[in-house]
Amino acid sequence: RSGARVERLPLARFTTLGVGGEAEVWFVGNHEQLAEALEAPYRVLGGGSNLVVADEGVPERVIRLTGPLAEADLTPDPDLSDAETVVTGWVGGGVPLPGLIRKLQKLGLSNLEGTVGIPAQVGGAVWMNAGTRYGEMFGGLHTLEIVTPGGTRQVTPDELDWGYRRSGLSRGHVVSRVRLKLRRSAPEEVRARMDFADQARKGQPKMKTPGCAFKNPGGVPAGRLIDEAGLKGTRIGGALIAPEHGNFIVNLGGASSRDVHALLDLIRERVGVPLELEYELWP
Ligand code: FAD
Repeated sequence: RSGARVERLPLARFTTLGVGGEAEVWFVGNHEQLAEALEAPYRVLGGGSNLVVADEGVPERVIRLTGPLAEADLTPDPDLSDAETVVTGWVGGGVPLPGLIRKLQKLGLSNLEGTVGIPAQVGGAVWMNAGTRYGEMFGGLHTLEIVTPGGTRQVTPDELDWGYRRSGLSRGHVVSRVRLKLRRSAPEEVRARMDFADQARKGQPKMKTPGCAFKNPGGVPAGRLIDEAGLKGTRIGGALIAPEHGNFIVNLGGASSRDVHALLDLIRERVGVPLELEYELWP
């Protein structure tokens, strides 16, 4: 009815791990299509950079933002911007974060460059307030547009209970668009801060991965515990605990979600302390 494109597709195509079975994917490019997509049980897919999707796929509709909901209007709003601050137009939840960060750098707009290297989409990064010690998504938000089956509303960050890697939004709250609040800065200064934040990623593997597997228990790096358990370089099927960094599981090609789960179980069994998963598991 609304004209949303709907296709059964392997989710492996949409995850940075490159694992995941089929689901009905709804490509929604406007609010009418999004409203229709939310009429039955759904999941929202961003950059797929924090997901381990089962080989069996998921039974729910999977929503993917496209078209205008994956475009960024970075024009400063003249009523809300001044010599120091810029409030942008709408930036779609489906916009890839890395490209946005590069554009903001060129425009000399600061506040989000600390998130450099996070292969998320804007909506997914906002939903969990992704970031590093050099900055997080909520450091650059002015307004969020949230869509649920009940309708669309706009909120400001101070209306949400956000915090460390938490937006205060519930599952199923779709971040359809946001407006950014940025600080004017010289492009070369933004660049320097980006390069600095990027340095911290030097030891991370460059292969297909959903990022860190476990949270750091009590501030101890999970990667070190995994290393001390002698597990770096362990392989099960097509999945490998990265030799470079124990907290990264990579897909050597042809990994199944079963392989990844087997490695996660092995780590839990061998590391002496309880570990909390960083990835989200689908279903
Ligand atoms: P997905 O993985 O697609 O989904 C994750 C969750 O967000 C799901 O619950 C999903 O439903 C929800 N979601 C996605 N889009 C929306 C939307 N539009 N509206 C509402 N909910 C949505 N994270 C960090 O915080 N810091 C890092 O430094 C970091 N480094 C990483 C490095 C690598 C190499 C990788 C692969 C991952 C890294 N991550 C990091 C993890 C990951 O990028 C973040 O968790 C990110 O926020 C996930 O965003 P996504 O768009 O990929 O979401």
